[in-house]
Amino acid sequence: AAKSSGRGCARFYDRSMIEAARTRRIVELDLREALASDQFQMFYQPIVAIGSGRITSCEALLRWRHPEKGMIAPGDFIGIAEEVGLITQIGRVVLGKACREAMLWPASVSVAVNISAIHFHGDVIVNDVAQALARSGLSASRLVIELTESALMHDDAQALSTLTRLRDLGVQIALDDFGTGYSSLSYLQSFPLQKIKIDRSFVSGGRETQKDQTLLVGIARLCKELGLTVVAEGVETSEQLDGLTRMGAIDEVQGYLLARPQATPLVRDLIRAFAANSLTQAVKRTPSR
Ligand code: C2E
Ligand code: MG
Ligand code: MG
Ligand code: MG
Repeated sequence: AAKSSGRGCARFYDRSMIEAARTRRIVELDLREALASDQFQMFYQPIVAIGSGRITSCEALLRWRHPEKGMIAPGDFIGIAEEVGLITQIGRVVLGKACREAMLWPASVSVAVNISAIHFHGDVIVNDVAQALARSGLSASRLVIELTESALMHDDAQALSTLTRLRDLGVQIALDDFGTGYSSLSYLQSFPLQKIKIDRSFVSGGRETQKDQTLLVGIARLCKELGLTVVAEGVETSEQLDGLTRMGAIDEVQGYLLARPQATPLVRDLIRAFAANSLTQAVKRTPSR
């Protein structure tokens, strides 16, 4: 809010706002440099089918290798990248890297890419996805686009048209972090989705009360009825995996129990290890989880 400086002119910013703006500006310049000098790297976390114990896809998770600050997690810069208008450029880099690197994996393994709501709502997303596929040679069916509920919330008509155009390219669409946003079960029917990722908070995030578990089972069953693949995120213990397996409605699992996000070369070893062993054996043998 504007404050009077006592000299007839309004003081629009207080100290903390100036600090925040300065930090944002520094991070913005750093992010521009990161784009220019290729400081972004993808890590990949396996998503495993409960039934077969095989890795069906890997989620591409962005890491920033900052020359001075070291490895920075996406939670620390995606928000600022969105605010300063760099998220679309970053998303394009992510799509390019993920598609190229997935070409090094067996064709049975897809790659899932997180796309910001801002990038999704711009007018370049369909073109960016098509270009990443064309340049890498990756088959569209091996690309999963992960969107959160916030991407689908704003403008239903535009969101539906973009999703339809992405589907026409042949890519799959997953709804990420399901259950955390302004979840409306009508999304599940009105949008052309193939996958639902039930948020970690229902699996290992402290919402494991009886009521939450009842909700989780109900949502999972409903999704299955609608023909969606149901993924549980954030599986950290074998007790959680057992519970999800018994539930019967969960198709795939992802979490530290199975594997932590890895750099590309290690992903190929993981894919092999999971293919050669049962799920419980593979979980036991995974080296760095
Ligand atoms: P997300 O898409 O829900 O990704 C899952 C996050 O949960 C990842 O964190 C992953 O490392 C973490 N995770 C996986 N298994 C477990 C587990 O068992 N326990 C716990 N506690 N955490 C687990 P990460 O890599 O820090 O990414 C955080 C978020 O940043 C992602 O959440 C996604 O929303 C966003 N993000 C990551 N990469 C990108 C990207 O390339 N573009 C955009 N726009 N957003 C990204
Ligand atoms: Mg995700
Ligand atoms: Mg998620
Ligand atoms: Mg999440």
